[in-house]
Amino acid sequence: MVEEDPRRRIPGTDTVLAHPQVREAAHRLSRPVLQRIVHQAQSRARSGSISPEQVLPEVLAQLEGLRPSSLRPVINATGVVVHTNLGRAPLSPAARQAIVEAAGYVDVEMDLHTGRRSQRGAAAHHALLEACGPAEDALIVNNGAAALALAAAALVGAGSVIISRGELVEIGAGFRLPELIKSTGAELVEVGTTNRTHLQDYASAVEALPQGERACILKVHPSNYRIAGFTSAVPTAELAELAQRHGLPLVVDAGSGVLEPEPVLPEEPDLSGVLSDGADLAIASGDKLLGGPQAGLLLGSTETIAQLKRHPLARAMRTDKLTLAALEATLTAGPAPVTTSLHADPEDLLTRARRIAEAVGADVVAHDGRVGGGGGAEVPLPGWAVQLPESAAEPLRSHLPPVVTRTSDSWCLLDLRCVPESEDETVLEAVRSVLQDLQATPSGSTPLGEDV
Ligand SMILES: *Cc1c(COP(=O)(O)O)cnc(C)c1O
Repeated sequence: MVEEDPRRRIPGTDTVLAHPQVREAAHRLSRPVLQRIVHQAQSRARSGSISPEQVLPEVLAQLEGLRPSSLRPVINATGVVVHTNLGRAPLSPAARQAIVEAAGYVDVEMDLHTGRRSQRGAAAHHALLEACGPAEDALIVNNGAAALALAAAALVGAGSVIISRGELVEIGAGFRLPELIKSTGAELVEVGTTNRTHLQDYASAVEALPQGERACILKVHPSNYRIAGFTSAVPTAELAELAQRHGLPLVVDAGSGVLEPEPVLPEEPDLSGVLSDGADLAIASGDKLLGGPQAGLLLGSTETIAQLKRHPLARAMRTDKLTLAALEATLTAGPAPVTTSLHADPEDLLTRARRIAEAVGADVVAHDGRVGGGGGAEVPLPGWAVQLPESAAEPLRSHLPPVVTRTSDSWCLLDLRCVPESEDETVLEAVRSVLQDLQATPSGSTPLGEDV
Protein backbone atom coordinates (compact mmCIF):
# COMPACT_ATOMS: atom_id res chain seq x y z
CA MET A 1 0.00 0.00 0.00
CA VAL A 2 1.36 3.44 -0.95
CA GLU A 3 1.55 5.91 1.89
CA GLU A 4 -0.14 9.21 1.25
CA ASP A 5 2.30 12.06 0.65
CA PRO A 6 1.93 14.17 3.84
CA ARG A 7 2.42 17.31 1.78
CA ARG A 8 -1.06 16.76 0.38
CA ARG A 9 -2.37 17.59 3.84
CA ILE A 10 -0.81 21.09 3.83
CA PRO A 11 -3.76 23.48 4.02
CA GLY A 12 -4.23 25.74 1.00
CA THR A 13 -3.75 29.47 1.19
CA ASP A 14 -7.48 30.21 0.96
CA THR A 15 -8.25 27.73 3.73
CA VAL A 16 -5.76 29.37 6.08
CA LEU A 17 -6.90 32.88 5.15
CA ALA A 18 -10.50 31.87 5.87
CA HIS A 19 -9.75 30.92 9.48
CA PRO A 20 -11.59 33.39 11.79
CA GLN A 21 -8.44 34.47 13.66
CA VAL A 22 -6.55 35.01 10.43
CA ARG A 23 -9.49 36.95 9.00
CA GLU A 24 -9.47 39.07 12.12
CA ALA A 25 -5.75 39.78 11.66
CA ALA A 26 -6.45 40.78 8.06
CA HIS A 27 -8.02 43.98 9.38
CA ARG A 28 -4.70 45.21 10.70
CA LEU A 29 -2.35 43.74 8.08
CA SER A 30 -1.80 44.25 4.41
CA ARG A 31 -2.64 41.33 2.13
CA PRO A 32 0.96 40.82 0.91
CA VAL A 33 2.19 40.52 4.52
CA LEU A 34 -0.55 38.06 5.38
CA GLN A 35 0.19 35.99 2.28
CA ARG A 36 3.90 36.00 3.00
CA ILE A 37 3.29 34.60 6.48
CA VAL A 38 1.01 31.88 5.14
CA HIS A 39 3.38 31.00 2.29
CA GLN A 40 6.34 30.78 4.67
CA ALA A 41 4.48 28.35 6.94
CA GLN A 42 3.40 26.25 3.94
CA SER A 43 6.90 26.11 2.58
CA ARG A 44 8.25 25.02 5.98
CA ALA A 45 5.68 22.20 5.94
CA ARG A 46 6.68 21.29 2.39
CA SER A 47 10.33 21.03 3.39
CA GLY A 48 9.34 18.89 6.37
CA SER A 49 10.54 21.24 9.12
CA ILE A 50 6.97 21.38 10.47
CA SER A 51 4.05 19.00 9.99
CA PRO A 52 1.09 20.00 7.78
CA GLU A 53 -1.03 20.20 10.94
CA GLN A 54 1.34 22.84 12.33
CA VAL A 55 0.80 25.28 9.45
CA LEU A 56 -2.20 27.00 10.99
CA PRO A 57 -0.78 27.23 14.54
CA GLU A 58 2.48 28.53 13.04
CA VAL A 59 0.63 31.24 11.10
CA LEU A 60 -1.33 32.22 14.21
CA ALA A 61 1.87 32.38 16.27
CA GLN A 62 3.51 34.58 13.64
CA LEU A 63 0.51 36.89 13.59
CA GLU A 64 0.56 37.05 17.36
CA GLY A 65 4.20 38.09 17.49
CA LEU A 66 3.92 40.60 14.64
CA ARG A 67 4.72 44.18 15.58
CA PRO A 68 3.91 47.25 13.51
CA SER A 69 7.59 47.98 12.91
CA SER A 70 10.45 45.53 12.90
CA LEU A 71 12.67 48.04 14.69
CA ARG A 72 13.28 46.51 18.08
CA PRO A 73 13.82 48.58 21.23
CA VAL A 74 17.18 47.64 22.75
CA ILE A 75 18.94 48.32 26.02
CA ASN A 76 22.15 50.25 25.43
CA ALA A 77 24.65 48.81 27.89
CA THR A 78 27.69 49.91 25.87
CA GLY A 79 28.43 53.07 27.84
CA VAL A 80 28.40 54.97 24.53
CA VAL A 81 25.94 57.82 24.97
CA VAL A 82 25.28 58.83 21.36
CA HIS A 83 25.44 55.47 19.62
CA THR A 84 24.73 55.95 15.92
CA ASN A 85 24.00 52.26 15.32
CA LEU A 86 21.43 52.37 18.12
CA GLY A 87 19.61 55.42 16.80
CA ARG A 88 21.68 58.12 18.53
CA ALA A 89 19.75 60.04 21.20
CA PRO A 90 16.92 58.22 22.97
CA LEU A 91 14.01 60.64 23.31
CA SER A 92 12.77 61.96 26.64
CA PRO A 93 9.33 60.84 27.85
CA ALA A 94 8.01 64.29 26.90
CA ALA A 95 9.34 63.99 23.35
CA ARG A 96 7.88 60.49 22.98
CA GLN A 97 4.50 61.74 24.11
CA ALA A 98 4.74 64.70 21.74
CA ILE A 99 5.34 62.32 18.82
CA VAL A 100 2.31 60.23 19.68
CA GLU A 101 0.12 63.31 19.98
CA ALA A 102 1.38 64.80 16.71
CA ALA A 103 0.82 61.56 14.83
CA GLY A 104 -2.74 62.39 13.79
CA TYR A 105 -4.09 65.62 12.33
CA VAL A 106 -2.37 68.54 14.10
CA ASP A 107 -2.22 72.30 13.79
CA VAL A 108 1.37 72.19 12.54
CA GLU A 109 0.62 74.82 9.91
CA MET A 110 -2.71 76.33 10.93
CA ASP A 111 -3.72 79.09 13.32
CA LEU A 112 -6.77 77.55 14.95
CA HIS A 113 -7.96 80.99 16.04
CA THR A 114 -8.22 82.48 12.57
CA GLY A 115 -8.40 79.22 10.65
CA ARG A 116 -5.65 80.47 8.37
CA ARG A 117 -2.33 79.02 7.43
CA SER A 118 0.43 79.76 9.93
CA GLN A 119 4.20 79.34 10.04
CA ARG A 120 5.01 75.64 10.02
CA GLY A 121 6.43 74.41 13.33
CA ALA A 122 6.38 77.89 14.88
CA ALA A 123 6.52 76.48 18.42
CA ALA A 124 9.65 74.39 17.78
CA HIS A 125 11.21 77.44 16.17
CA HIS A 126 10.40 79.62 19.20
CA ALA A 127 11.70 76.98 21.60
CA LEU A 128 14.97 76.85 19.68
CA LEU A 129 15.41 80.63 19.77
CA GLU A 130 14.54 80.72 23.45
CA ALA A 131 17.17 78.06 24.15
CA CYS A 132 19.88 79.85 22.17
CA GLY A 133 19.97 83.51 23.19
CA PRO A 134 22.35 84.98 20.62
CA ALA A 135 20.48 83.53 17.62
CA GLU A 136 18.31 86.07 15.77
CA ASP A 137 16.55 83.42 13.72
CA ALA A 138 16.60 79.69 13.06
CA LEU A 139 15.70 77.06 10.51
CA ILE A 140 15.15 73.37 11.17
CA VAL A 141 15.89 70.78 8.47
CA ASN A 142 16.20 67.00 8.36
CA ASN A 143 19.73 66.48 9.67
CA GLY A 144 23.10 68.09 10.10
CA ALA A 145 24.29 67.05 6.66
CA ALA A 146 21.20 68.60 5.05
CA ALA A 147 21.82 71.80 7.01
CA LEU A 148 25.38 71.99 5.72
CA ALA A 149 24.34 71.29 2.13
CA LEU A 150 21.64 73.97 2.34
CA ALA A 151 24.10 76.49 3.77
CA ALA A 152 26.56 75.82 0.94
CA ALA A 153 23.88 75.93 -1.75
CA ALA A 154 22.18 79.07 -0.49
CA LEU A 155 25.17 81.13 0.66
CA VAL A 156 27.77 80.14 -1.91
CA GLY A 157 26.10 78.44 -4.91
CA ALA A 158 28.84 77.73 -7.43
CA GLY A 159 31.27 79.89 -5.45
CA SER A 160 33.95 78.94 -2.93
CA VAL A 161 33.89 77.35 0.51
CA ILE A 162 37.11 78.10 2.36
CA ILE A 163 37.97 75.33 4.83
CA SER A 164 40.99 74.12 6.82
CA ARG A 165 42.67 70.85 5.75
CA GLY A 166 42.40 69.78 9.38
CA GLU A 167 38.60 69.84 9.14
CA LEU A 168 37.87 67.68 6.10
CA VAL A 169 35.71 65.26 8.03
CA GLU A 170 34.32 61.83 7.18
CA ILE A 171 31.22 61.54 9.36
CA GLY A 172 30.70 57.79 9.03
CA ALA A 173 29.56 55.07 6.64
CA GLY A 174 31.90 56.59 4.05
CA PHE A 175 30.16 59.97 3.93
CA ARG A 176 32.56 62.87 3.68
CA LEU A 177 31.62 66.47 4.32
CA PRO A 178 33.93 67.83 1.58
CA GLU A 179 32.15 65.63 -0.97
CA LEU A 180 28.78 66.68 0.36
CA ILE A 181 29.69 70.33 -0.05
CA LYS A 182 31.08 69.81 -3.56
CA SER A 183 27.90 67.98 -4.55
CA THR A 184 26.00 71.26 -4.11
CA GLY A 185 28.16 72.80 -6.85
CA ALA A 186 30.49 74.75 -4.57
CA GLU A 187 34.25 74.74 -4.96
CA LEU A 188 36.36 73.80 -1.94
CA VAL A 189 39.31 76.02 -1.18
CA GLU A 190 41.45 74.06 1.27
CA VAL A 191 43.78 76.05 3.46
CA GLY A 192 46.54 75.19 5.96
CA THR A 193 47.72 71.68 6.72
CA THR A 194 46.26 68.66 8.48
CA ASN A 195 47.64 69.65 11.88
CA ARG A 196 48.08 73.42 11.65
CA THR A 197 46.07 76.17 10.04
CA HIS A 198 46.68 79.86 10.75
CA LEU A 199 44.61 82.98 10.30
CA GLN A 200 47.01 84.01 7.54
CA ASP A 201 46.11 80.86 5.57
CA TYR A 202 42.45 81.91 5.53
CA ALA A 203 43.36 85.54 4.79
CA SER A 204 45.46 84.54 1.76
CA ALA A 205 42.64 82.40 0.40
CA VAL A 206 40.13 85.22 0.86
CA GLU A 207 42.41 87.67 -0.90
CA ALA A 208 42.97 85.25 -3.78
CA LEU A 209 39.24 84.91 -4.49
CA PRO A 210 38.28 86.12 -7.97
CA GLN A 211 36.55 89.51 -8.00
CA GLY A 212 32.84 89.17 -7.16
CA GLU A 213 33.11 85.45 -6.29
CA ARG A 214 30.48 84.24 -3.82
CA ALA A 215 32.19 82.56 -0.90
CA CYS A 216 32.04 81.68 2.76
CA ILE A 217 34.47 80.56 5.43
CA LEU A 218 33.48 77.22 6.94
CA LYS A 219 34.75 75.96 10.27
CA VAL A 220 33.92 72.33 11.04
CA HIS A 221 34.23 70.89 14.51
CA PRO A 222 36.15 67.59 14.50
CA SER A 223 33.41 65.72 16.41
CA ASN A 224 34.69 62.20 15.88
CA TYR A 225 38.48 62.62 15.96
CA ARG A 226 41.19 64.68 17.59
CA ILE A 227 44.32 66.07 16.10
CA ALA A 228 46.82 66.09 18.94
CA GLY A 229 50.46 67.13 19.26
CA PHE A 230 51.86 70.00 17.19
CA THR A 231 48.56 71.58 16.23
CA SER A 232 46.84 74.89 15.81
CA ALA A 233 43.46 76.02 14.61
CA VAL A 234 41.95 79.51 14.35
CA PRO A 235 39.32 80.43 16.94
CA THR A 236 35.87 81.39 15.71
CA ALA A 237 36.19 84.98 16.93
CA GLU A 238 39.31 85.58 14.80
CA LEU A 239 37.72 84.01 11.73
CA ALA A 240 34.60 86.11 12.28
CA GLU A 241 36.67 89.27 12.25
CA LEU A 242 38.37 88.26 8.98
CA ALA A 243 35.09 87.21 7.37
CA GLN A 244 33.37 90.41 8.37
CA ARG A 245 36.18 92.55 7.03
CA HIS A 246 35.72 90.93 3.63
CA GLY A 247 31.94 90.76 3.71
CA LEU A 248 31.88 86.96 3.71
CA PRO A 249 29.62 84.81 5.88
CA LEU A 250 31.26 82.62 8.51
CA VAL A 251 29.55 79.25 8.90
CA VAL A 252 30.44 77.02 11.87
CA ASP A 253 29.41 73.37 11.78
CA ALA A 254 29.49 72.60 15.50
CA GLY A 255 28.29 69.04 15.02
CA SER A 256 26.97 67.97 18.37
CA GLY A 257 24.52 70.70 19.21
CA VAL A 258 25.15 71.69 22.81
CA LEU A 259 23.36 75.00 23.28
CA GLU A 260 25.42 76.21 26.22
CA PRO A 261 28.95 75.26 27.35
CA GLU A 262 29.05 71.67 28.61
CA PRO A 263 31.39 71.37 31.63
CA VAL A 264 32.05 67.67 31.03
CA LEU A 265 33.16 68.42 27.45
CA PRO A 266 35.20 71.63 27.56
CA GLU A 267 36.34 71.27 23.93
CA GLU A 268 32.82 71.00 22.55
CA PRO A 269 31.75 74.25 20.86
CA ASP A 270 28.35 75.47 22.08
CA LEU A 271 25.98 77.16 19.68
CA SER A 272 25.46 80.22 21.86
CA GLY A 273 29.23 80.72 22.12
CA VAL A 274 29.76 80.20 18.39
CA LEU A 275 27.23 82.92 17.58
CA SER A 276 28.49 85.27 20.30
CA ASP A 277 31.94 84.88 18.79
CA GLY A 278 30.56 86.33 15.59
CA ALA A 279 29.62 83.40 13.33
CA ASP A 280 26.82 84.27 10.91
CA LEU A 281 25.51 80.73 10.98
CA ALA A 282 25.90 77.83 13.42
CA ILE A 283 24.94 74.30 12.38
CA ALA A 284 24.26 71.27 14.59
CA SER A 285 22.43 67.97 14.72
CA GLY A 286 19.30 67.50 16.81
CA ASP A 287 19.98 63.90 17.82
CA LYS A 288 23.46 64.13 19.29
CA LEU A 289 24.16 65.95 22.56
CA LEU A 290 20.98 68.01 22.32
CA GLY A 291 19.23 64.69 22.90
CA GLY A 292 16.36 65.20 20.48
CA PRO A 293 15.09 63.74 17.22
CA GLN A 294 17.12 63.61 14.02
CA ALA A 295 17.22 67.18 12.77
CA GLY A 296 19.58 69.78 11.38
CA LEU A 297 19.59 73.05 13.28
CA LEU A 298 20.63 76.27 11.57
CA LEU A 299 20.91 79.28 13.85
CA GLY A 300 22.14 82.71 12.97
CA SER A 301 21.49 86.23 11.79
CA THR A 302 18.10 87.20 10.40
CA GLU A 303 19.62 87.92 7.01
CA THR A 304 21.48 84.61 6.73
CA ILE A 305 18.49 82.52 7.78
CA ALA A 306 16.26 84.43 5.34
CA GLN A 307 18.67 83.55 2.54
CA LEU A 308 18.49 79.88 3.50
CA LYS A 309 14.69 79.85 3.72
CA ARG A 310 14.39 81.30 0.22
CA HIS A 311 16.48 78.56 -1.40
CA PRO A 312 14.42 75.87 -3.20
CA LEU A 313 16.33 73.11 -1.39
CA ALA A 314 14.87 74.33 1.91
CA ARG A 315 11.57 72.79 0.85
CA ALA A 316 13.24 69.50 -0.05
CA MET A 317 14.71 69.35 3.45
CA ARG A 318 11.53 70.34 5.29
CA THR A 319 11.11 68.66 8.65
CA ASP A 320 8.33 66.28 9.47
CA LYS A 321 5.66 67.23 12.04
CA LEU A 322 6.80 64.38 14.32
CA THR A 323 10.31 65.81 14.39
CA LEU A 324 9.03 69.30 15.12
CA ALA A 325 6.90 67.98 17.97
CA ALA A 326 9.76 65.98 19.49
CA LEU A 327 12.25 68.82 19.09
CA GLU A 328 9.98 71.33 20.81
CA ALA A 329 9.39 68.88 23.68
CA THR A 330 13.14 68.16 23.97
CA LEU A 331 13.92 71.87 24.19
CA THR A 332 11.22 72.72 26.70
CA ALA A 333 11.25 69.64 28.98
CA GLY A 334 13.81 68.76 31.67
CA PRO A 335 17.19 67.18 30.94
CA ALA A 336 17.22 64.82 27.96
CA PRO A 337 18.33 61.21 28.54
CA VAL A 338 21.70 61.88 26.84
CA THR A 339 22.37 64.67 29.34
CA THR A 340 21.50 62.39 32.24
CA SER A 341 23.80 59.66 30.86
CA LEU A 342 26.61 62.13 30.25
CA HIS A 343 26.43 63.32 33.84
CA ALA A 344 25.81 59.92 35.46
CA ASP A 345 27.44 59.80 38.89
CA PRO A 346 30.21 57.13 38.96
CA GLU A 347 29.26 56.23 42.56
CA ASP A 348 25.70 55.47 41.48
CA LEU A 349 26.95 53.48 38.50
CA LEU A 350 29.17 51.47 40.84
CA THR A 351 26.31 50.67 43.21
CA ARG A 352 24.07 49.59 40.34
CA ALA A 353 26.79 47.54 38.63
CA ARG A 354 27.62 45.80 41.94
CA ARG A 355 24.03 44.81 42.49
CA ILE A 356 23.89 43.00 39.15
CA ALA A 357 27.40 41.56 39.49
CA GLU A 358 26.74 40.16 42.96
CA ALA A 359 23.47 38.61 41.87
CA VAL A 360 25.21 36.60 39.15
CA GLY A 361 28.66 36.14 40.71
CA ALA A 362 30.53 38.43 38.31
CA ASP A 363 33.14 41.15 38.90
CA VAL A 364 32.81 44.89 38.50
CA VAL A 365 35.65 46.65 36.69
CA ALA A 366 36.42 50.30 35.99
CA HIS A 367 35.14 51.24 32.56
CA ASP A 368 35.17 54.52 30.67
CA GLY A 369 32.02 55.40 28.80
CA ARG A 370 32.16 57.54 25.68
CA VAL A 371 30.15 60.32 24.15
CA GLY A 372 30.22 58.51 20.82
CA GLY A 373 29.61 59.91 17.35
CA GLY A 374 27.99 62.94 18.94
CA GLY A 375 31.19 64.63 19.96
CA GLY A 376 33.73 64.67 22.75
CA ALA A 377 36.09 62.47 20.74
CA GLU A 378 38.46 60.58 23.03
CA VAL A 379 36.96 62.09 26.21
CA PRO A 380 36.62 59.29 28.78
CA LEU A 381 33.49 59.25 30.95
CA PRO A 382 34.71 57.39 34.05
CA GLY A 383 32.37 54.67 35.27
CA TRP A 384 32.04 50.93 35.86
CA ALA A 385 31.06 47.78 34.05
CA VAL A 386 29.89 44.30 34.98
CA GLN A 387 32.47 41.92 33.54
CA LEU A 388 30.94 38.90 31.82
CA PRO A 389 32.41 36.17 29.62
CA GLU A 390 32.77 37.29 26.01
CA SER A 391 30.43 34.49 24.96
CA ALA A 392 27.56 36.31 26.75
CA ALA A 393 27.56 39.16 24.25
CA GLU A 394 25.74 37.40 21.43
CA PRO A 395 22.98 35.79 23.53
CA LEU A 396 22.45 39.11 25.33
CA ARG A 397 21.85 40.75 21.95
CA SER A 398 19.45 37.96 21.00
CA HIS A 399 17.61 38.22 24.29
CA LEU A 400 14.22 39.94 24.48
CA PRO A 401 14.67 42.83 25.02
CA PRO A 402 18.12 42.79 23.41
CA VAL A 403 20.95 44.01 25.65
CA VAL A 404 23.86 45.47 23.68
CA THR A 405 27.20 45.44 25.53
CA ARG A 406 30.81 46.32 24.74
CA THR A 407 33.40 43.70 23.95
CA SER A 408 36.91 44.54 25.08
CA ASP A 409 39.96 42.40 25.86
CA SER A 410 37.87 39.25 25.38
CA TRP A 411 35.31 40.32 27.95
CA CYS A 412 31.71 41.30 27.55
CA LEU A 413 31.39 44.56 29.47
CA LEU A 414 28.01 45.76 30.62
CA ASP A 415 27.98 49.49 31.41
CA LEU A 416 24.84 50.95 32.98
CA ARG A 417 25.56 54.60 32.10
CA CYS A 418 22.92 54.72 29.34
CA VAL A 419 20.50 52.29 30.99
CA PRO A 420 17.63 53.95 32.85
CA GLU A 421 17.76 52.73 36.44
CA SER A 422 14.19 51.47 36.06
CA GLU A 423 15.56 48.88 33.60
CA ASP A 424 18.22 47.44 35.91
CA GLU A 425 15.91 44.58 36.86
CA THR A 426 15.32 43.72 33.19
CA VAL A 427 19.06 43.75 32.56
CA LEU A 428 19.68 41.51 35.58
CA GLU A 429 17.07 39.03 34.36
CA ALA A 430 18.68 38.97 30.91
CA VAL A 431 22.17 38.42 32.34
CA ARG A 432 20.95 35.73 34.69
CA SER A 433 19.16 33.80 31.97
CA VAL A 434 22.04 34.11 29.50
CA LEU A 435 24.63 32.95 32.06
CA GLN A 436 22.43 30.01 33.04
CA ASP A 437 22.12 28.95 29.39
CA LEU A 438 25.88 29.29 28.92
CA GLN A 439 26.51 27.06 31.93
CA ALA A 440 23.99 24.52 30.67
CA THR A 441 25.72 24.33 27.28
CA PRO A 442 29.43 24.71 28.01
CA SER A 443 30.25 24.24 24.33
CA GLY A 444 28.86 27.71 23.79
CA SER A 445 31.50 29.21 26.03
CA THR A 446 35.24 29.08 26.19
CA PRO A 447 36.38 28.68 29.79
CA LEU A 448 39.32 30.94 30.47
CA GLY A 449 42.73 29.34 30.58
CA GLU A 450 41.76 26.39 28.43
CA ASP A 451 42.90 25.73 24.93
CA VAL A 452 40.16 25.12 22.46
C1 LIG B 1 27.38 64.57 12.93
C2 LIG B 1 27.98 65.68 12.16
C3 LIG B 1 27.46 66.04 10.91
C4 LIG B 1 26.32 65.30 10.28
O1 LIG B 1 25.14 65.52 10.99
P1 LIG B 1 23.90 64.50 10.77
O2 LIG B 1 22.87 65.06 11.67
O3 LIG B 1 24.41 63.16 11.16
O4 LIG B 1 23.54 64.57 9.34
C5 LIG B 1 28.03 67.10 10.25
N1 LIG B 1 29.08 67.77 10.77
C6 LIG B 1 29.60 67.45 11.98
C7 LIG B 1 30.76 68.24 12.48
C8 LIG B 1 29.08 66.40 12.70
O5 LIG B 1 29.60 66.09 13.88
